[in-house]
Order: sequence, then C-alpha cells, then structure tokens
Amino acid sequence: MFAGRFRLAAGFAVAILSLAVAAIASASTAPNVKDARLAGAYRLERGGWTYVHLQGTPEQIGFQNGYLLASEIADFSHVIKVETKHSTNRDWQFYREAARTILWPHIDREYQQELKGIAAGAEARGVKLDVWDIVAMNGWMELSEYYVPWLDRKSHAANVPAKFDPKAPGNCSAFIATGSYTKGGKIVIAHNNWSSYPEDSRWVIVYDIQPAYGHRILMDGAPGLIDSADDFGINDAGIMVTETTISQFVGWNSNGIPEFVRARKAMQYANSIDDYIAIMRKGNNGGYANDWLIGDRKTGEIAVLELGLKHTAVWRKKDGYFVGSNFPRDPALIRDETEGFDSKDMSSSPNARRARWKQLIEANKGKIDVPMAEQFLADHEDSFLHEKKADQRSLCGHVDESKEGISIWGWKPYYPGGAAQGKATDSDMAARMSFVARAGHPCGENFYAKPFLAAHPEYVWMKPILKDMIAGPWMVFKAGARAQGPEHSGQ
Ligand SMILES: [Zn+2]
Repeated sequence: MFAGRFRLAAGFAVAILSLAVAAIASASTAPNVKDARLAGAYRLERGGWTYVHLQGTPEQIGFQNGYLLASEIADFSHVIKVETKHSTNRDWQFYREAARTILWPHIDREYQQELKGIAAGAEARGVKLDVWDIVAMNGWMELSEYYVPWLDRKSHAANVPAKFDPKAPGNCSAFIATGSYTKGGKIVIAHNNWSSYPEDSRWVIVYDIQPAYGHRILMDGAPGLIDSADDFGINDAGIMVTETTISQFVGWNSNGIPEFVRARKAMQYANSIDDYIAIMRKGNNGGYANDWLIGDRKTGEIAVLELGLKHTAVWRKKDGYFVGSNFPRDPALIRDETEGFDSKDMSSSPNARRARWKQLIEANKGKIDVPMAEQFLADHEDSFLHEKKADQRSLCGHVDESKEGISIWGWKPYYPGGAAQGKATDSDMAARMSFVARAGHPCGENFYAKPFLAAHPEYVWMKPILKDMIAGPWMVFKAGARAQGPEHSGQ
C-alpha cells in the first residue's frame, strides 16, 4: 500500500512520510499500546466519572487497571500518603512493609496476580509504584484505621500523641428495600460515600470487570483498587450489595484475609446471599468492619451482615428494608467491639441519619424507586434539629459546614468530608448490569477548595490534595458501556 504512494506528488509524499515518522515516534513513547494484556480494555469519561472496562485473566485485569488509570493511581496514592502520614504519623514505608508482611501472605494467588498486574500496568505508563505500593493502597483503610490503632493499643500508645489517634471511619449513608416498600416490589439499593473530600473527589471510577473466572461485576471505586472499597456493586448472578462502616469499631487480626480481598471475592463469586456472607466471614481479619446490605434480585430477599470480628450477626427479610448510616445494631457487638457506641444519642451523625432514613422510607412505603433513591441520597433534613440543614447529620453529609464535626470518627470541626458521590439501582436495572451514579455531592452542590482553605487554615495540610468537587448529573452506567450512547437518568 505504501509503495503506491510514491507515485503521488513529492510534497504529499513528504507529508505522509512525516506522519509515518510521527506515528513511530509516538509508538516508541507508548511501547505497550499493543500489549496483548490490554486486549478488550477501554476507558470513557462521563459526567465526572471515569468508566473502565477490564477483562480477562487476573494479570490482564490488573494490567488494564494500572495502565488505563495510571495517572489517577499516581494521584490517588499521593492522597493516601498525605492522609495516612497526617492521621497516624507513620510514613509510607511503614505501610509498604505492612502490605508485604501482613497482608500479602493472606491474599489469594488470583488477586496477588491482579495486584502485580496493576503495578506493571502503571509502570508501563511511567508511574513509579511497585506491588507493595499497590497492596498498601488497596489496604489503606484497614491498615491505617484498624491495624494501626490495634498496634498502638498493644504498645500502650506510650509514644502516640493524642493528635494521632486514628479511629474506625464512619463513612456513608445507604439503604436497601424490597417487597411492599418499593414500587413494583423489586429490590432498590442506594449508597452515598462519606470520605474525606480528597478521597471522595477521586472515588469516581466505574469498574466494569469481566473476569476469566467468576461473575461479571459493575461497581464504583477508586483508582488502582481491586475492590470497590465503598462497596457499591452488582454482579451478573443477581447480587446487589453495599455497606456502611461501623462507627467506633475496634478489632484486628493480622492472620486474617484482608477485607479488600474478601470484598472483591464476594462480589466476583457469590451466587446467593449465603455465598456472600460465607466469603466475607471466612478468614475475617476485622479490617474495615461494616454493616453489609445485600440483596438477591433472583429471590427478592435482602439481608444485613454486621461483620464484626467476634460477632457477625445476620438479619434477613423478603419484605421490608434495612438502612445503613454507620451505626452497629447488635448489642453484643456494641458491648464487645466498639469504643462505647451510644445508640441513644440522637445528636450523633449515625443515629440522626438512622432516624431520617426510617422517616423517609416509611413515608414513601410502596413508592420507592431509583429516582426517589436519588432524592433520598440528596436529603438535607437534620432529624435532630428538625430543620433543613446540610451538615453532619443530613443523609447528604456536608461536614465542612459543621462547627461540631464528628468526634467519634476523629473528624474535627469543619472537616472537609461528607457525602460526595452517590449510586442507586433496582432489580430491573441490575438485571441489565446497570446503575445510576452522580459525582460530587448527591444534592448537586459544588465544593471549592480555595475559599474553604482560606476560611479554615487548620486544614492547610490538605492543600496539596484538596481539590474542587463540581457535581455532575445523575448518569446511567451499564456493563459494556462502549456499545451504548451517553445517557442521563433524567434527573
Ligand atoms: Zn448535599
């Protein structure tokens, strides 16, 4: 084909030759573009989210994650390093070492290969992170908020100043409803992610994973992780899942399987609620202890697994609902595994949101659907003050506007954290491997870093990682998105 072009006018031939040279030059700066490990993978940007389709063997899925999200992974790892140093006074080498010696020996070979693949994919794009960085990133919450407090208590915290007193996080508002509570009787599930804004603003990846083994997964997540980490997802066996963390939880077992591994494995291999519970319980290390809200669209049944370390109670319903707002419900767990969680203090964020969830769901019994779930996630009622106020007690949390902060999570006044992305789906959408998601506050309000830091200089340490969060629209995401046109959910 090229030979024929030599008969063209000289000037045109030179132009073509220049293009060819340019193409070679660009190929040489990205030598892995044709890497077989990238076969079938792609990424799309939509409404503030980055959607990635990953497929194949564990190594391929990992490599695709690392390659397609390389710059986001480098950025997110920087956030984790800054935050963990600030909250625990441990440098990154401590976390790399814990990843290598404590987490790695308990990770299934399948996921070890995927984690190695992420490091290799990122490295192929020039990002200087190795597998221990990637494992530490995947385990950052369980290491900094469960392992480190356990370690500090073990060593009697002699050298740990009060300012470094990491606590179990209290992230997220969620519900799952079924039967007579929902429109049409199908399962409806929804979740918004309450993290620090530096984390939230990067927690905008939609993963469509088509693994060589197990079930197809559609879930939200952060860059370079093998699990969702805020754990909103569906699989093609009909499992619909999310969670909220247990406030003031205390417990850790270094000989257990990391939570991020069990969470991913359950999403990938569970065919039923029973499977999901069994995978989460097996080898439980106590890290990132959550109340898991689980649904099976095949049966319409819903469940809560409250996964402590000593106590792992389950509640199940075929008609009704469960809510999540970071409160533990089992009295034995509260007694044995929390730092005195007070279920009666209605001014606390978890209890105030629990009350608001019940009001909303009971008031809308029989009418709950996905558009209504979007409204719930954006709700600003403070049930303790009985007024509309976006603060630490509203389902759509804005703790940056709260002069109290949330002390039980170690969030000081005006801490820049709260509900900063949301997702929802129902049985019918899940059958099509689809959910809706909104980047930024679910209510649509924007957050601007510069005026916030000017008003709250005590958070200047966050300056390198805190960025604006501009809310996107509610978007529909579906597995195999490339074949679909861009869609808005109509909200
Ligand atoms: Zn809001």
